[in-house]
Amino acid sequence: MGNVLIIGAGGVGNVVVKKCCQVPEVFTSITLASRTLSKCEQIQKDTNNKIKIAQVDADDSKQVIALIQKVKPDIVINTALPYQNLAIMEGCLQTGVHYIDTACYEPYDEAKYSYEKQWAYHDKFKAKGLMAILGLGFDPGMTNIYLAHAFKNHFDQIHTVDILDANAGDHGHPFATNFNPEINIREITQKGKYLENGQWKETDPLSVHKSFDFPGIGPKEVYLLYHEELEPFHRHHPEIKNIRFWMTFSQNYLNHLKVLENVGMTSIKPVKHNGVDIIPIQFLKSLLPDPGSLGVRTKGKTCIGLWIEGVKNNKPKKYHVYNICDHEDCFKDVGSQAISYTTGVPTMVGALMMLQGKWKGVGCFNPEQLDPTPFMEVIGRYGLPWTEVTE
Ligand code: NDP
Repeated sequence: MGNVLIIGAGGVGNVVVKKCCQVPEVFTSITLASRTLSKCEQIQKDTNNKIKIAQVDADDSKQVIALIQKVKPDIVINTALPYQNLAIMEGCLQTGVHYIDTACYEPYDEAKYSYEKQWAYHDKFKAKGLMAILGLGFDPGMTNIYLAHAFKNHFDQIHTVDILDANAGDHGHPFATNFNPEINIREITQKGKYLENGQWKETDPLSVHKSFDFPGIGPKEVYLLYHEELEPFHRHHPEIKNIRFWMTFSQNYLNHLKVLENVGMTSIKPVKHNGVDIIPIQFLKSLLPDPGSLGVRTKGKTCIGLWIEGVKNNKPKKYHVYNICDHEDCFKDVGSQAISYTTGVPTMVGALMMLQGKWKGVGCFNPEQLDPTPFMEVIGRYGLPWTEVTE
């Protein structure tokens, strides 16, 4: 029924491939392509050769086009890095194929992400009768669907949304990131930004924090960050006046990050080393543990969800919806830690929605623009059950 091409054989790509393999009645043909073929070979071996593999440099849309013409997929699922989004979207547009990704576009040379350049593809996708779903991981992704679900089922108006993301997992390394270190560190060393009374406010990086009592985890220190959901939430729901994103970090993680920043190791500007230009953050990535290797040693849980305030039937209402995920359970399921798992499961379910015709549309969509009901009905079955509480 469905032929998918997954580009990017990292932590998230591994999860998407293995979750697609668990639904063979829908995903009848799966091809994984990436820059380093040996990573595809390892995942192919893990799946007992259920998938096909290929090598591609997805920075080059000509290579993406040639690959799509060979594989002839119904959907391209982009689990490479945000730098490749535009080249892969261009490839889909030229070849007439639907598209899904997990993170919004960001250029190599500026640590600043925005959906604007991807939204600019809306009319072109629409003209060709194609659908693109942007930012369909957990956050962004599942969080956007939680918002759509809250609007559809629980509120007449929403005025405050707090997205809270806790990772209480312990991998035993002194310092490691749970997804691509370069993308992760670029994200959290940016200035914080949030919406208050309809106005954007900026803060120094990680300067605003508080304690929050997470279900299933307990109290944790959370830090205010700018995050990808904020831009589409504000664009598609300008009536929401307050939107904030909070993430947990341990003091140990923050201390390491501060030292690395202070010595220039998180910089994205090239420096000369022995006569060769190197980019410090890329060199740092080579030194840090591969996020894909953390699954086997990570214990503990994640809890990510939305805490919402608004009005229902003329009465104030407080409501929250979240998922709790166990790192060790994720490892048992697909050999991954929970961060890649919580990202890859919604991506697979999004592809399932498209292939089953439950999500239809032409143009580029963020997940909050789609019908949350069929997605929320099945996401628990595929590994990410949700709990909702009205206070
Ligand atoms: P990894 O670094 O583990 O994997 C990225 C993969 O993409 C690697 O296999 C890499 O190849 C491949 N790749 C990089 N550049 C190219 C290229 N030019 N052509 C082809 N393949 C390429 O990252 P993650 O799996 O942790 O993250 C994947 C994506 O998921 C990122 O965009 C990240 O931001 C996003 N993400 C989204 C989340 C969400 O909740 N929405 C949460 C976590 C991640 P190589 O092995 O050669 O380096």
